[in-house]
Amino acid sequence: MSDNEFDVIFIGGGPGGYAGAIRAAQLGLKTMLIDDRKGEDGKPAPGGTCLNVGCIPSKALLDSSKHFHHIQHDYTAHGINTEGVSIDIDKMLERKRKVVKQLTGGLVQLFKANKIEFVNGRGKLFSERQVEVSPNDGDKYTATAKDVVLAAGSVPFSIPNVEVDNEYILDNVGALEISEVPERFGVIGAGVIGLEMGSVWSRLGAEAVLFEALDDFLPAIDRDMAKVAQREFKKQKLDIRMGCKVSGAEVSDGKVKLSYSDGKEDHEEVFDRLLVAVGRKAATDNLVADDSGVELTERGKIKVDGHCRTSADKIWAIGDLVRGPMLAHKASEEGIAVAESIAGQAGHINLETVPWVIYTDPEIAWVGKTEAQLEEEGIEYRTGAFPFAATGRGLAMGNATGQVKILADAETDELLGCQIVGSYASEFIGEVVVAMEFNGSAEDLARIVHAHPTLSEAVHEAALAVDKRAIHKAN
Ligand code: FAD
Ligand code: AMP
Repeated sequence: MSDNEFDVIFIGGGPGGYAGAIRAAQLGLKTMLIDDRKGEDGKPAPGGTCLNVGCIPSKALLDSSKHFHHIQHDYTAHGINTEGVSIDIDKMLERKRKVVKQLTGGLVQLFKANKIEFVNGRGKLFSERQVEVSPNDGDKYTATAKDVVLAAGSVPFSIPNVEVDNEYILDNVGALEISEVPERFGVIGAGVIGLEMGSVWSRLGAEAVLFEALDDFLPAIDRDMAKVAQREFKKQKLDIRMGCKVSGAEVSDGKVKLSYSDGKEDHEEVFDRLLVAVGRKAATDNLVADDSGVELTERGKIKVDGHCRTSADKIWAIGDLVRGPMLAHKASEEGIAVAESIAGQAGHINLETVPWVIYTDPEIAWVGKTEAQLEEEGIEYRTGAFPFAATGRGLAMGNATGQVKILADAETDELLGCQIVGSYASEFIGEVVVAMEFNGSAEDLARIVHAHPTLSEAVHEAALAVDKRAIHKAN
């Protein structure tokens, strides 16, 4: 093989592309990874949206702001006096940047260790698996591979009449770099990103108002669970306005004037900063040439089958570019599965058991089906729920909001779904994911010994409640 011939080329170095490239290299494939992202210092910053302007920096800010909020509002109940607490936003942002840099720098080291040919630049697919490589600091050349994996991720959706300048009207990139707490922080979209970033700036003192076009809050979870979460957000003074569609926003004199309709009347509101968080679309621009043979779906995603094969021979696509949840762990597992398939193994990912998490406080985590989906599919089910307020650990922590809900097949008792609203939900949703992957039943979860006292005992009790035999609540 010549220098520019590879077994596999990954275009895009987010969690999908980089995890896939590492797995391919582990399997002995000669691997190239092309990612265009640079850090503020001009150095390569692989890791995609997730590490640079998504999962990681948002969680860094969520954690900083959570500490600040807890100190102000919850510590006195523990007997801790916390007068005169203040926040240094510059330092908070600096910490976030450091976390990101540590992770992106760590990836470059991992690529070296795995002997991956890593190019900081852009890749574009042409016919016959030829990839035009345009390094950020060098001349264009062509590389070829036996297999090519498209992993270019996603970019934010925009809405008409709302122009992102990342100074006053922000997307996720700007929302992670606000240098002072805005007095009024507007958010368009009460989805995952809107809720997380709204929480950050609200905890730091902004008056946060979220506008959501849909009438139902968080349609991906059951109505009773959504109500539990909505009640908590209301207590935190997050002003979430449902059924409110934003029609435009303009900046003048350092303020943003936003126009919206609540379905009956038109309104206007003025904010210091406005975040547009109305979802993300596949980053297909300038990724494939017309003769590449790669087809798109009606929704602008790359069309793939259950194994991430596109319509072109030996061209694969993964992560946010394709159908399924736009989540980092789903992208990574697809990258790994594709690398294994290319190496002749049986790579596989089960989209039915991908867990979702919203890192608000309480956290919201779920997996599998909702009641509405089961009803639509005509599947008979039983449910069991258990509140954290009835767990010893929740009370001892002073953090007992929310509950666990489990859905199981009425006849076979097979686990069909789980939703958790509560602290650390992100950590123990994994228990239910494992059980579901093994086609476990609610009875299986109910018979597993859970450590005491832990919040995960609520999972145990919810599983017992499916059969109306929870111990620490009336059934
Ligand atoms: P990406 O991470 O988008 O990576 C693709 C990379 O490819 C990018 O660096 C891009 O610049 C590069 N690229 C694109 N085109 C080319 C090209 N032609 N040549 C070279 N390089 C190219 N998910 C979670 O699971 N948990 C979370 O907590 C979470 N929080 C989030 C918070 C925010 C604010 C945002 C915006 C997203 C969040 N996500 C979260 C979603 C997560 O970031 C994405 O699902 C994930 O990054 C998708 O991975 P990917 O590999 O498909 O693409
Ligand atoms: P997510 O897909 O989780 O990032 O959530 C994005 C949210 O933005 C969805 O709930 C959409 O309904 C909502 N949305 C999209 N367009 C508008 C709009 N013009 N005004 C208000 N909300 C919107």
